[in-house]
Amino acid sequence: MSFKPYIWLISLITAGLMLLAVGFSQAAAPPHSLFQTSTLSALLAGVYDGDLNLGTLRRQGNFGLGTVNGLDGEMVALEGQFYRVDHQGEVSLLTDERLTPFAVVTQFQPQRSLKLPTLLDFPQLQQFLDQQLPSGNLPYAIRVQGTFQTLKFRSVPRQHPPYRPLAEVLPQQSIFERANIQGTLVGFRTPAYLQGINVNGYHFHFISGDLQIGGHVLAGQFQPHQVKIAIDTLAQIQIHLPDTAAFRKVNLSGSDSSSLKGLDW
Ligand SMILES: [Zn+2]
Repeated sequence: MSFKPYIWLISLITAGLMLLAVGFSQAAAPPHSLFQTSTLSALLAGVYDGDLNLGTLRRQGNFGLGTVNGLDGEMVALEGQFYRVDHQGEVSLLTDERLTPFAVVTQFQPQRSLKLPTLLDFPQLQQFLDQQLPSGNLPYAIRVQGTFQTLKFRSVPRQHPPYRPLAEVLPQQSIFERANIQGTLVGFRTPAYLQGINVNGYHFHFISGDLQIGGHVLAGQFQPHQVKIAIDTLAQIQIHLPDTAAFRKVNLSGSDSSSLKGLDW
C-alpha cells in the first residue's frame, strides 16, 4: 500500500501539466506582436494548403489578413471576426476548423491615430504613412476606417491541386471597384528585411461596413475628414511554419515577390 501516495503525486503532476498545456495552447498572444503562419514566398510558390486552423489563429490575434486553404478567397479579421471574401466578392464568416496556408494577425491595440491632411490616392497614402511612421525597421498593424471616395480591390478563385504559382493564378482574379464606399482597411506594413517571409511594404485587405463586399486592396482615393487611421507598432514576430509535405518540398531558395511584377498585387 505504500505506493499509493506516489500514484496520487503522479496523478497530480500529470493533471498540473495538462492544465499548463491547455493554458499555453489557449494563451492569447502578447500585445504589439505579429503572428503569421507560413511565408509569403511559400504562398507565391503555390503552397495553398496549410496546417493551422482558424481556432488557433483566432487566439493569436483579432485583426489581420490572409487566405484559406485552396487559396479560396481573401481573409479579413476585424474585431475578432474572421471573414472570407469569395471570388464574387461575397463575405461569409469563417469557422474554427477551416485551415489557412498564409495569415498575419495581431491583437490590435493602436498607440497612435492619424487624420489625412488632404485627398490622397493609394501610393500617396503609403508615402504619407511612411513619413508618419517612426521607422521602416518595425512592423506596423494599420487600420484605416471611413468612407473612401474610390476603392479597387480583388479576390481570387479557389484552386485545385496540382497548384500553380500565384503569379499564374492572379490573372483569374475578380476586380471590384466601388465609389463612396464605407468600411475598413485592415493591413500591415512590414520591413524590407522580411521580404520572402512577408510583403515588403504595405498589404491591405478591405471589408465594407455592411459586410457585403471586400478583398485585397489594389488602389483607392482617400478623403481627409472622412478617414481615420490607427497604428499599432509591433515589436515581436512569431512565425508558425507548416509541417506539411508541400511546405517541406517547395524550393524557397532565392524566392521573392519579383514574380508578381507587372501584375496587380
Ligand atoms: Zn492580400
